[in-house]
Amino acid sequence: MARYTGSVCRQCRREGMKLFLKGDRCYTEKCALTLRHTPPGMHGQGRKKQSEYGVQLREKQKVRRAYGIMESQFHKYYEMATNMRGVTGENMLSLIERRLDNVAYRLNLGESRPMARQMVTHGHVLVNGNKVDIASYQVKVGDVISVRERSRDIPFFAALKEQGAKRTVPQWLELDSENLTGKVLALPQREDIDLTIEEHLIVEFYSR
Ligand code: SF4
Repeated sequence: MARYTGSVCRQCRREGMKLFLKGDRCYTEKCALTLRHTPPGMHGQGRKKQSEYGVQLREKQKVRRAYGIMESQFHKYYEMATNMRGVTGENMLSLIERRLDNVAYRLNLGESRPMARQMVTHGHVLVNGNKVDIASYQVKVGDVISVRERSRDIPFFAALKEQGAKRTVPQWLELDSENLTGKVLALPQREDIDLTIEEHLIVEFYSR
């Protein structure tokens, strides 16, 4: 599948918010958004007020870029969410949050979502003891996520084991960093998702 290969910081500047795509660097003053607040491009500073469509589009793009999901797959999450009970926007975010690459990120098995995705697609992550290298795999309550035995010596995982998690693990997950194992305790709710977005705008975008 085609993936965005340009500057990831450019995506944050475009959306005007931190998408945390570069791991530790995002928390330092080297963050491109700390240095430059304007959207990228030669006309970045002169952009005019956005239309209603533009506002909805940007809200969708923020989530899509933060989670690194291509448009066609993102649209599928919307369609799945419309067929579920409850609030469509919240259902959609919950489905996205349950992706294995995101769960690996939340469990600190990657500094950033792109890195966590790589850990998954390179086969370092197991679900209930079986290798699952599909980033979009949907975790379920009770699933146990762990690091493959022969991957545990990778410096990143060795450091996690020794020093513990750098980021707080959300309450719907549990991490045993010493054993490089995590568990899904519940399905993620809206309040578990720390992105500052208005998901109803995304629903409005797709239901136009
Ligand atoms: Fe975004 Fe991180 Fe780059 Fe800052 S350092 S602009 S948060 S990817």
